[in-house]
Amino acid sequence: MLVGRVSTPAASLSRTRSLTSALALLVLSLAVSSCGRVTSAYSAQDFSGRTIRALATVGMVGDVVRNVGGERVTVETLMGPGVDPHLYKPSESDVLDIAEADAVFYAGLHLEGRMTEVLERTSDTRPVVAVTEDTDHSRLLRSAAFEGSYDPHVWMDVSLWATTVDRVERALIEMDPGSAAVYRARATAYRQELAALHEYVRRQVATIPPRSRVLVTAHDAFSYYGRAYGMEVRGLQGISTETEAGVGDVQQLASMLVERRIKAVFIESSVPRRNIEAVQAAARARGQEVAIGGELFSDAMGKAGTPEGTYIGMIRHNTDTIVRALR
Ligand SMILES: [Zn+2]
Repeated sequence: MLVGRVSTPAASLSRTRSLTSALALLVLSLAVSSCGRVTSAYSAQDFSGRTIRALATVGMVGDVVRNVGGERVTVETLMGPGVDPHLYKPSESDVLDIAEADAVFYAGLHLEGRMTEVLERTSDTRPVVAVTEDTDHSRLLRSAAFEGSYDPHVWMDVSLWATTVDRVERALIEMDPGSAAVYRARATAYRQELAALHEYVRRQVATIPPRSRVLVTAHDAFSYYGRAYGMEVRGLQGISTETEAGVGDVQQLASMLVERRIKAVFIESSVPRRNIEAVQAAARARGQEVAIGGELFSDAMGKAGTPEGTYIGMIRHNTDTIVRALR
């Protein structure tokens, strides 16, 4: 007797599908395991006669590369002002830009959720560098929502973000050793600017009365800021904007604002303002006026050519806005 498996077209189709997804998983895991390593098969190019074309995902990463690279590197940034990296899907032209770049720099720690895989897939043909990959993991905050992963918003602690300067410096020297002295000097100067910025933020936040050091924002981008500079932080949405805020979250946050008499909440340039406005309305319904303290740059910098269009300017703007509203 033949005890063969019944093979309906649907069953064989589903087997084909699961094979395809298994293969996709395999390719993905290979790509992930080779992530960021500069030991892959691409042959070293000679950049002594021309500038390095670097592609960065978010503005903050591009700004580090620009500061360390100086005139030796041209930097293009994929995600401009107001763009949310958690939700960003690469377009076809992005994929072309990635393919044409000499090096790709990204934040890592899953900040660029849907993009990470696309980036890592190109790591055998050019350096693809997660600027946070050398950052001491004991200094990273764990993500409560995503087990086994870290909060990616490390630029909010200036002293932590400064460690990405080292990683970019090393990558550029590996690619273009002839200009090593330029990269070293520029990295050293930029680290000094960042050290001064860290002190500035620390001193400014210290002028807010301790009771008022509560930072309420649209999503959980400010935990590193809170830890570094001594503020309690509450975000309406979680660490990634992929998780939607519910009605319960809005009500809970509103009652916290009322109970603790918090004067102001903040909108973010890369997150729709309606969420935080719902919190404001819920607090008003309970009899408390809560101001919108201003717009903070959380996951994207401001427009190029404005002070907020640089990392240093963005952090200064955030700090000045927070201090003005809460002091
Ligand atoms: Zn974020």
